[in-house]
This record gives sequence, structure tokens and C-alpha cells, in this order.
Amino acid sequence: MIEVLEPATEEVMAELPEAGVEEVDDAVARARAAFGPWRGVAPAERAALLRGLAAAIRGHSDELTTLEARNVGKPIGDARGEIGMVADCFDYYAGAPERLLGQSIPVDGGVDVTFREPLGVVGLIVPWNFPLTIASWKIAPALAAGNTVVLKPAGLTPLSAVELARIALEAGLPEGVLNVVVGPGSVIGERMVRHPDVAKIAFTGSTEVGRGIAAGAAETIKRVTLELGGKSANVVFADADLEAAASSAPIAVFGNAGQDCCARSRILLEASAVDRFMEALESAVESLRVGDPLDEQTQMGPLISADQRNKVASYVDGEAPIAIRGRAPDGPGYWFPPTVLAPVSNDDRAAREEIFGPVACVIPFRDEAEAVRLANDTIYGLSGSIWTRDGAKALRTARAIETGVLSINSNTSVRVSTPFGGFKQSGVGRELGPDALEHYTEVKNVYYATDD
Ligand code: NAD
Repeated sequence: MIEVLEPATEEVMAELPEAGVEEVDDAVARARAAFGPWRGVAPAERAALLRGLAAAIRGHSDELTTLEARNVGKPIGDARGEIGMVADCFDYYAGAPERLLGQSIPVDGGVDVTFREPLGVVGLIVPWNFPLTIASWKIAPALAAGNTVVLKPAGLTPLSAVELARIALEAGLPEGVLNVVVGPGSVIGERMVRHPDVAKIAFTGSTEVGRGIAAGAAETIKRVTLELGGKSANVVFADADLEAAASSAPIAVFGNAGQDCCARSRILLEASAVDRFMEALESAVESLRVGDPLDEQTQMGPLISADQRNKVASYVDGEAPIAIRGRAPDGPGYWFPPTVLAPVSNDDRAAREEIFGPVACVIPFRDEAEAVRLANDTIYGLSGSIWTRDGAKALRTARAIETGVLSINSNTSVRVSTPFGGFKQSGVGRELGPDALEHYTEVKNVYYATDD
């Protein structure tokens, strides 16, 4: 049995049986058997089933929200927003089955047409920080395109995925179309990656595990999409609305207790703005409400585990001085106070590695060229922000930064209808928006000879 803990209390909130290789093989066989009938479901009917699932998720929103808030330790307001996005994601991709268009291509001697075909059984492996949200980004386009799914949630946070599978059956999804297996990544994740009947792996998690998945998938030439780590830059120029930049910077790092691949954890700050920005940042960090995830006022909860807290702590007692430290409750619970290190060199360990906790590094720069150089001086390239009132500079900088997702004068960049994914070692492929569908289909080209 797997014991599932509640990070805010350190108490066991559920126990469930651990799957092994045999259960993965069984789930893949069921998904394989369901694939033929599912791809044969008329597009309008498949669309209706996905819309029905979105409605059922909204109907179970309170229960899913509480489950996610308790199991991850995330503020309940954030969890509610995430469950709303999960339902929106199924609604968005419900538009796809009737719009997966091929082409007709002018050729000599006949007619040439292309079709977008499903891949078959796709294996989805997701992390613990946004369990159901990230799962939905994969399940919805996969099912819309006619694939069947085996989903492996993280061992620390399996509950919402198991609940989703139950809700999906209730909403009329045929048996075998969406399967969930719960167990250790190194055993069952590994089996999914190497299974000959799994056509693709869509993975979100650390760059380290992603590297192994890409290597394992090579054995059977599986399709692979990877959404990996990040160390994103929040570039603040002196001509920006510093009040707005400083007041939103804490949530851009400390949201989800910093356990966010998009965390703008390197604040690159133009030297002439340091004093004004740091003053505003300090009051914003100190007013952050850290505490019980089930309290509607809470903005930051605990970390996911004791291991994660130890890892995060190891970055704070390093070379860089602590400039700002917020408050956090005493135990029980895996609490860590929001912390700002400043000034930090981009060569420090805290600025180079993904901390995945509530720690921000403030790195000063002199001019635009240095800002771009520092922003790009990382193995990652997932997200980021640029703050300035100079429109041309904003666009110039946005074009120069090597990253998949950027926002200008804002720290939000994830929407169901727009592509999301990384440059460099932050990943391969895109999720969300129309782009995701390309990663769950193959293009088939058919030539029909018509001339005598
Ligand atoms: P992780 O890489 O440790 O685990 C992710 C998933 O992979 C889990 O389900 C785990 O059980 C499974 N896994 C572990 N070893 C495996 C193996 N050998 N074979 C197959 N599967 C295996 O990541 P985590 O600690 O759960 O999540 C944090 C990481 O995820 C961070 O690095 C973060 O940046 C990243 N992340 C990226 C995105 C993105 O979209 N780019 C989003 C969220 C999180």
C-alpha cells in the first residue's frame, strides 16, 4: 500500500494499493483493446463525451478542489482555479475532433490527401506540483485525437487522478479509454517508457528524469514530449512600473510555494532601480499570507515533503546573503518561509539550479545587453517576464531571450488556448493550444491515382 500524506499536517490522508509492472501491462492491454472502438467513435460524439467530462468535473469541483488543496498543500483558492482550468481544458479540446483537418495537395496524375491519425496508446507521466492540471493538458488532447491513455500520477499526489478516472466513467467515457496506475516512477514509469505497445510518452517532471525517459524511449522509437525544469528570469528595467513589478514578483516565485516550473526565480533588476524595487518587494513579501491551505485567505502553503524542504534549505545557507525573509508557521507541516537572496551572482548555485521552493534570487544588471546575456545564461528556457514602459525594448528583449513562454508587464503566461513548453533543457514539444494536437497525431499521406 502507498500512504498518501497531507503536507500541512504530516498526517496520512489515504492509502491505496501500489501498482507494479503487471498492473501497467494490464492497463496498457486494456487501453490497447479500447483504442480501436475509441478512434471509431464519430467525431461529434467524441466531442460530446469530452464536453460531458468537463461538465462532470465542474459538478465535482468542490471535492476535487479540497482533495488537491489537502494533498499538495496548495491554497484552496489556487486549487479551485486549477480545477476550473482542468474543466476548461476538456471543453477546449472538445472542439478538436471535428477540426482535425488534413490537406489536399495538388499533384500529377491523381489526388493527394493527408489525414491526422491517432498514435494509439499514450503513456502520460506527471509530477506532484499541479497534479490534475498537468494531467488534463495531456489527457484532453490525447483523447480528442482518438488515442487511449495510461496515466501515471506522482506517488505523492495520486488522489485527484484516481478520482478523475472515476468521474470519467460516470460521465460516460468507455471503459479502457482512460486508465490510471499508481506506483513508483522507477518501476511503473520505467515500464511505460519501455512498453512496446505504448506509442508515445508525454512527460512532465525534472530534467534529470526527462533525460532518462528520452533515452529509454529511444529503444522503441517512441514519440516523446518533455516538459521539464526551469530557472526563469523576471527582467525588471528601471523605466518599468516598479510598484506593479515588485508587488507581483513574490507570487511569481512563491506561488505554489515556489514548486512551479514557471517560477520567475531569478529577478534580474536594473542597477539604478534596486533601492526602489527592493523596498516595494520587501513589503510585498512580508504581507504574504503563509498558512493553512484550507483557509481562503492563504496565499502560500507548505512544501510537498520533508525531503523537498531539506533540499530548499540547502540553497539558503550558501554564498548569497538573505535580504528578505517572510513568515511561516512552525510544525507540524513542511513549512519554509518565503526568502529573497540579494545580491546574487548568476554564477551562484542558487541562481543556476532549479530550487523548486520559495526562494528568489535578485541579480542586478547594468544595461539591456547584460540583461539578455544573464537571462540566457542557463541550461533552461521555460518561462519569464519583462517589465518596461518602452514597447520597442520589450519586444526586442522578448525576441532575444531563449525561452518558450514570456509575458510583458505581467507574470502570467499559461492559458488553455496558447502553446506552452520549453527551449533548451526545459523540454521538447508544446502543450495546450492547437500545437498540442500535433504531438498526439501522425500525419498520413494518401495518394490516389485517378488518371488513365
Ligand atoms: P520527477 O521528475 O521526480 O517526477 C515526475 C514523474 O516522473 C513522477 O510521476 C515520477 O514518479 C515519475 N518518474 C520518476 N522516475 C521515473 C523513471 N525512471 N521513469 C519514468 N517515470 C519516472 O519530478 P517531480 O519532483 O515530481 O516534479 C518536479 C519537477 O517537475 C521540477 O523539475 C519541475 O520543474 C518539473 N515540472 C515541469 C513542468 C513543465 O511544464 N515544464 C511543470 C511542472 C513541473
